[in-house]
Amino acid sequence: MLDLLIIGSGPAGLSAAIYAKRANLELLVLEKVYCGTGQIAESSQVDNYLGYCGINGYDLGEKFREHAISLGVEIMPKEAVGFEVEGKIWKVHCSNGETIEAKTVIYATGAAHRHLGVPGEEEYAGKGVSYCATCDGAFFRNKDTAVIGGGNTAMDDALYLSELCNKVYLIHRRNEFRGSKKTLERIRQKENIELVTPAEIVKIAGEDKVSSVELKDGKILEVDGVFVAVGMTPQTDSIKEQVELDHAGYVVADETGKTSAHGFFVAGDVRAKFLRQVITAASDGANAAIAAVEYLNEE
Ligand code: NAP
Repeated sequence: MLDLLIIGSGPAGLSAAIYAKRANLELLVLEKVYCGTGQIAESSQVDNYLGYCGINGYDLGEKFREHAISLGVEIMPKEAVGFEVEGKIWKVHCSNGETIEAKTVIYATGAAHRHLGVPGEEEYAGKGVSYCATCDGAFFRNKDTAVIGGGNTAMDDALYLSELCNKVYLIHRRNEFRGSKKTLERIRQKENIELVTPAEIVKIAGEDKVSSVELKDGKILEVDGVFVAVGMTPQTDSIKEQVELDHAGYVVADETGKTSAHGFFVAGDVRAKFLRQVITAASDGANAAIAAVEYLNEE
């Protein structure tokens, strides 16, 4: 029987694993995507993680992974799809039919890309519509693309694509950008990025692949690729019957990660909290692991 089952191999899950391993817990990390490191892998440049200024997000994620593995942490590619508690034992059901039992769980699944919900978005997913500029940008070399959103992700994506693409439209529904002023300054200096604000996309069109986007005012922009960067939604469907969620679907917990369910802790972007960054995810993981250790000692 495991002392601790960690769901998720992003910064929160791996940080929890490092702390729990050093506290001698019998533990296992489950990851949905083989060799995944979560959202961080999609970031072309991370400037705000202490000690690694300018590092590529994929490389930082690999460092976290190597660190955990070097301490003997085992990471398995399995998707947890259902949770039930029997007495004080958590039974975690996986998509392959397997059930894993553990005395405690740290839920660190992060958040998934929010969709726009406009006609053409699902139809052209993978045929011009993408949610990850660093993953798919290279397919649009010397082509025209649109990035949707006004946060740091959309702004970073626009900058990244401007190095590859002929032209990048950054389309945002408001004139004010949510992302950092410094990044906006860099964007304004790029000749091949055009800010399209305030503007809302109503349709993504094409034939076998994307060829244009239509805006609410009727304007058509001809593009080969559309990068949707309109934020994230928490991945909490499988636990909504077990723990308290806030109005937006994030798991309610203080910084110890203790949820409304005994022995069930939460860490990282999926927790209801002030700031969602790599450094706060890592911090959450450490707190949740130590809270789990205390819980096990008390039990
Ligand atoms: P975000 O900050 O929540 O921004 C989402 C953007 O999408 C907002 O501008 C929002 O518009 C827009 N939006 C939401 N729903 C929309 C819809 N249906 N149609 C059109 N536009 C829509 O999300 P994010 O950019 O993914 O960032 C998430 C977190 O990660 C943030 O805390 C961010 O600072 C952080 N992050 C940091 C870095 C970095 O430091 N390098 C890089 C990436 C992300 P409104 O502004 O009008 O609400």
